[in-house]
Amino acid sequence: MRDYVKLTERDNVAVVTHDTKAGVEIMPGIITLDEIPQAHKFALVDIPKNGEIIRYGVVLGYALDEIKKGAWINEHMLRLPVSPSVDNMPFGVNIRRDLPEAPRKTFLGYKNPDGFYAGTRNILGIQTTVQCVQGVLDVAVERIKKELLPKYPNVDDVTAVTHAYGCGVAIKAPNAKFPIRALQNIARHPNFGGQLMVVSLGCEKLTVDMLVGEENNTPDNVVVLQDCKGFEAMMNAIMSMAEKKLQILNQRRREELPLSELLIGMQCGGSDAFSGVSANPSAGYAADMLVQGGATVMFSEVTEVRDGVHLIAERCINSEVRDKLANEMRWYDEYLREGEVDRSANPTPGNKKGGLSNIVEKAMGSIAKSGTSPIVEVLSPAERPTKHGMIYAATPASDIVCGPCQLASGIGLQVFMTGRGTPYGLAIAPVIKVCSRNEMKEQWPDIIDISAGSVVTGEKNISDVGTEIFNFILDVASGIKKPYAEKYNLHNYLCIFNPAPIT
Ligand code: CA
Repeated sequence: MRDYVKLTERDNVAVVTHDTKAGVEIMPGIITLDEIPQAHKFALVDIPKNGEIIRYGVVLGYALDEIKKGAWINEHMLRLPVSPSVDNMPFGVNIRRDLPEAPRKTFLGYKNPDGFYAGTRNILGIQTTVQCVQGVLDVAVERIKKELLPKYPNVDDVTAVTHAYGCGVAIKAPNAKFPIRALQNIARHPNFGGQLMVVSLGCEKLTVDMLVGEENNTPDNVVVLQDCKGFEAMMNAIMSMAEKKLQILNQRRREELPLSELLIGMQCGGSDAFSGVSANPSAGYAADMLVQGGATVMFSEVTEVRDGVHLIAERCINSEVRDKLANEMRWYDEYLREGEVDRSANPTPGNKKGGLSNIVEKAMGSIAKSGTSPIVEVLSPAERPTKHGMIYAATPASDIVCGPCQLASGIGLQVFMTGRGTPYGLAIAPVIKVCSRNEMKEQWPDIIDISAGSVVTGEKNISDVGTEIFNFILDVASGIKKPYAEKYNLHNYLCIFNPAPIT
């Protein structure tokens, strides 16, 4: 087992693979001067005051003071560089076509009548126009699961798409397009099989027409609680509509489909300094295999790519894609500026404890999960893709907000990388969890699906773990396997991104 990881020739720091005491000759000629926690950095050379600190071959920051060879480098010792400009970014100069071969070219999915991506699960999704209906709907969903679902064995689940939007909001504000688009597109999620069912209150600002279109606002699809005479009538209306939808959904069958019918989302949360060494590059390798096989993969999280945006631009296939990337970054820079912060507000105490000194270091690790494929499209938050291949969907980085945005974009499955650990999961699509270090898997053996920790210790290659992730993705997408979050029904609340005013 190796004791440290140095990523590129240019790097003047390395990270320790385990807690390391002071006074250890960690590599020939370098003796640790401090106790260094697992995943944290140490200097490979003497770094002068204001000298560059380089990892991933990029400048993470500048030394606030002189750092001696062998010293621990923590988050208090770096000055953040300015983020790269998004003006005139070179594009198309790093287009890789020799991607790793996909070992499988098909999966078992639910083909959808609208020609969009296939479903990976068969779920009755009950949409809501406003939070006010949630209490009633939660009671109804519990009854549907108990009394109706067992009669329809081909349907996997019933879920209420509840959220905090819909009323008490400035529905005509320009930025209201974000939450409205998210809810519209979640209603069209591939796992819902084109079946629409809406529970509305009756007096809210987000009308049924706005949510699902006037043509779908019919008594066959919509229960309006204010039109029902009391609670029992509400229950009866919801139960009887649910039964009709379940009868239709029960006819859906999986069939062998090409990977071009598959849309996968990549996300990370609770990252550490190993995330960019093991879990994210392994997921990136799987992403490259998926793209090679014809699938579509999206990655997101604006603040966590902002410092590496020039690297994404280099992979954009044309100027339109590059321009949309730049515009999304500009929009988010401005959004943060209005809140009197910048992207440096992103890293968490846990990220820092895990050895990530700042947002540059976090971003370089985060981008690794996108692999190396050409980027064919850039999406605004919650937009649906129109191209196949690697896509960048510009969503907030918060796990709880990114998830619903990617669901709105239509992902059939999410791959979630973590270093510190999170039990995150989604009700609408399965979430596979990949951890960056073996200690995490030992801590949570029945929450983490795959450990990429052996890449850190040098016992496995990125291609080994990447292939393992690829195969697990296809098994889960095909309904052959369930990740732990799905097995235990670990479902996070859908926090819909709403940058518009609340009234
Ligand atoms: Ca995240």
